[in-house]
Amino acid sequence: MRRTVGVALRCVNFGNTSQVVHLLTPGRGLLGLLAKGVWRPRNPMFGGGFDAGRTYELVYIPRPRGGLGLVTEAQEIECPRRITRDRARIADAFVVLAFAACFAAPEQGDAEFFELVVNALRALDGGSEEALLLFLRAGLDGAGFLPRLDACVKCGVPLREAARCGFSHEAGGIVCGRHPAEADRLLPGAILRAARGEGLSDAAARGGAVRFLIDWANHVLAFRRRVLEYPFYLVS
Ligand SMILES: [Zn+2]
Repeated sequence: MRRTVGVALRCVNFGNTSQVVHLLTPGRGLLGLLAKGVWRPRNPMFGGGFDAGRTYELVYIPRPRGGLGLVTEAQEIECPRRITRDRARIADAFVVLAFAACFAAPEQGDAEFFELVVNALRALDGGSEEALLLFLRAGLDGAGFLPRLDACVKCGVPLREAARCGFSHEAGGIVCGRHPAEADRLLPGAILRAARGEGLSDAAARGGAVRFLIDWANHVLAFRRRVLEYPFYLVS
């Protein structure tokens, strides 16, 4: 038996009274667990079913080779309750949870990534409009996949003053206006700045930067056959 804290990323009902829950933990990474009888009324081992985005303290029996372990006891210790007032922040939170599910390694602990996810959920619960963008930046950076955003990947020219920048998936970063044929798409200066974590009060630039970072994450994830979706308010 092991004891851990974990954020529920995905919860699926199983049979009449059970759930399969995937949690992100600081010490064991991604953990898939079966919660038998979690929906049974007055079950003393659980305070009700698991819910995505909430943090739990739990006791579980691990299974070897990636199989579903068994959670025997769980208690909710943190719930982003205020988030339900804002649909856009809920959508942001689901991107954070999906990103965590896509990038966390099974059975491999990463306390820093766990903290990043928990802190992003707290910030979204506090109504932060920048939290998703800052999370995507930090998450990609931590995974070693944040593209270089301060200089052209082709010629090394600093991009601060460069006008028409573009993004090249193949080159893996920003290309300046001197290589228009290399760019898969143009990246307006305001979006590039927002992607660097600057000028975040501009909502349109922030939205553009979130799209850009999700597109880039999906480019990275394509090799792993996993996909992130835009929050609903950025779907056009
Ligand atoms: Zn260049």
